[in-house]
Amino acid sequence: MAKTYSLPPLPYDYKALEPHISEQIMKLHHDKHHQAYVTGANAALEKLEKARNGEMQIDVRAVLRDYSFNVDGHILHSIFWPNMAPPGKAGGSPGGAVGDWISRDFGGFDKFKAQFSDAAKTVEGSGWALLLHDPWTDSLVLTQVEKQNFMHLAQMTILLGLDVWEHAYYLQYWNDRAKYVEAWWNVVNWSDVDSRLSKVNK
Ligand code: MN
Repeated sequence: MAKTYSLPPLPYDYKALEPHISEQIMKLHHDKHHQAYVTGANAALEKLEKARNGEMQIDVRAVLRDYSFNVDGHILHSIFWPNMAPPGKAGGSPGGAVGDWISRDFGGFDKFKAQFSDAAKTVEGSGWALLLHDPWTDSLVLTQVEKQNFMHLAQMTILLGLDVWEHAYYLQYWNDRAKYVEAWWNVVNWSDVDSRLSKVNK
């Protein structure tokens, strides 16, 4: 049997991000949605293995697509949880290296925040806004991801992600994605973003 993925525990209590993100959202989002991506990725790997062994016939293109969707969902959520922290320990503007890089590459934190927010608010349907380190230019860049299939971003390290699937906000913010995006800045864990940057910046 191939190696499998597993659901990482949340690095804080389900209600730790309140009032910005409710306990109910965090429970469903972590225990149901993220778990489903883990289960889906493992199921796809198992199908691929059975197909190799002649135990099962599969549509390899469909299964690989399914694998990518689920494993990308798993990875993005595994970054998303520690990207956030309780409001008392999060939010504001970043110091450290990540603060310097954002100033250099985006012309200041306020300009970065406005453009990242625009990226998050305008994702068509479900998806993500991401801050990445681009190793070819050794600088920080933004991207928007529809759903969560993004193999074209190979090798660009994700530093900060914002989940704008409806399951991330609908129970609390209904259809007001912009209000959720604004509230989310209060729980951004800049020290986690900084430590991700320090790992690529070696
Ligand atoms: Mn999600």
